[in-house]
Amino acid sequence: MPKAPTLARWRTIGDVGPDAELAPTGGPAAEGGPPTTGRSHVQGELAAEATELLRRLVRLNTVNPPGAERDAIESLRSILTEAGFQCELLAAEPNRPNLVARLRGENDGPTLCYLGHLDTVLADAGEWKHDPWSGDIADGYLWGRGSLDMKSQVAAEVAAVAGLARGGWRPACGELLLVTVVDEETGGELGSKWLCETHAEKVRCDMLLNEGGGAHFELHGRRYYGVCCAEKGVFRFTVTTTGAAGHASMPRLGENALLKMAPVLERFANGRPSLEPTVEPLAFLRGVGEDEHDPSAALERLDEQDSRLLTMLEPMFGVTFAPTKISASEKINVIPSKAQLRVDCRVPPGFGEPQARHAIEQVLGGLDGLQIEFTERVTGNRSPIDSPLMDALGQWIAQRDPGARTVPMAMPGFTDSHRFRAAFPECVAYGFFPQRHQSLLQTQALMHAPDERIDVRDLAFAAEFYRDLAVGLLG
Ligand SMILES: [Zn+2]
Repeated sequence: MPKAPTLARWRTIGDVGPDAELAPTGGPAAEGGPPTTGRSHVQGELAAEATELLRRLVRLNTVNPPGAERDAIESLRSILTEAGFQCELLAAEPNRPNLVARLRGENDGPTLCYLGHLDTVLADAGEWKHDPWSGDIADGYLWGRGSLDMKSQVAAEVAAVAGLARGGWRPACGELLLVTVVDEETGGELGSKWLCETHAEKVRCDMLLNEGGGAHFELHGRRYYGVCCAEKGVFRFTVTTTGAAGHASMPRLGENALLKMAPVLERFANGRPSLEPTVEPLAFLRGVGEDEHDPSAALERLDEQDSRLLTMLEPMFGVTFAPTKISASEKINVIPSKAQLRVDCRVPPGFGEPQARHAIEQVLGGLDGLQIEFTERVTGNRSPIDSPLMDALGQWIAQRDPGARTVPMAMPGFTDSHRFRAAFPECVAYGFFPQRHQSLLQTQALMHAPDERIDVRDLAFAAEFYRDLAVGLLG
């Protein structure tokens, strides 16, 4: 990483040069107490801009497939171009361009990238209280598909950096890069995967922030904000049982392969592989004041504290199996000679097929006649936990939510950060969209679900974070 930023360069918010009144003083007053005049005015503008932008993005339906992100991408381009960014649209498919916007400093230095995607999963309007493409604001929330995943983060980032650039701010060294991609929800073939493979030099960065962390949770009476430092790998496989076909009217004539699946399902229902905590979950346990030397006891205590929260935290501690599809005979009157069970298997970052097979053996060991075949093999990757970027995140949270802390985490799922880490091994990539008001439990329940919505105060909170971080790291 060229000229990695150091902590000394992280300026306390409040001395942002000519725009000093941009700077919040932090602390509870910035959230709820009496605002001071100049600052609150600018804060209010940033909040209003982020909110308006999110409404606009939500109203542009970008359900993928087909995606159709062009209008949304173009509206971001015009905001950023006007603010002073150099913008470029790069498209694998003409109607689905990605946006790369940069703001260069006078001197060489690190590149800080804010990454986001504009496509969403589908929504069935009949299941929603407010139309999923309305962007309605009601009960303190902005409602709509993408309001959490992840047009909110994109809106907060764009409002933050456009405001900075419009006010005349430029990085003292290095550059600020904003990359908004298409096609994340179906794998990123036209988005981050294509960009990293085809235009690597244009999106190369030293520090990257993306989705995947930041909603607060409470444990042992303290508030924490998870920073996603790693993503698990995906090793999906098929379990096959075989038998002999026969007429279904005489069940004992053939050998029913589907019935042989019963003990397999039973094992998946009741058994699980041993914990395999990697560096992230161990750092998480340390971070929340638990005993990293006895992870199972620590997980039991977390379970007693909040079993719903444990459901979200536990997958980072090892290999997980979720059988999701089963198939056997195509005909109702034919005993199946073959049955197949598809299993979604996620492994800790860095783990490969041998570790996945070992975990399968722990759960299915002793059952005869099973064939196991892997259908997808993606090794998860990670960024270092200790970095100037992590320090900066921790300092900002400590300042803006006194008593709260950041903690490292590994994500059970998969995001575009994976592509950037793979393409640029020196890049430190984290998932972080700080949410002070809407908790991790509330947020996770609304992702990809009906009534997806964001507390509008969190939109402002995050926009201030992205603004302050850029100034803090790039000067
Ligand atoms: Zn997403």
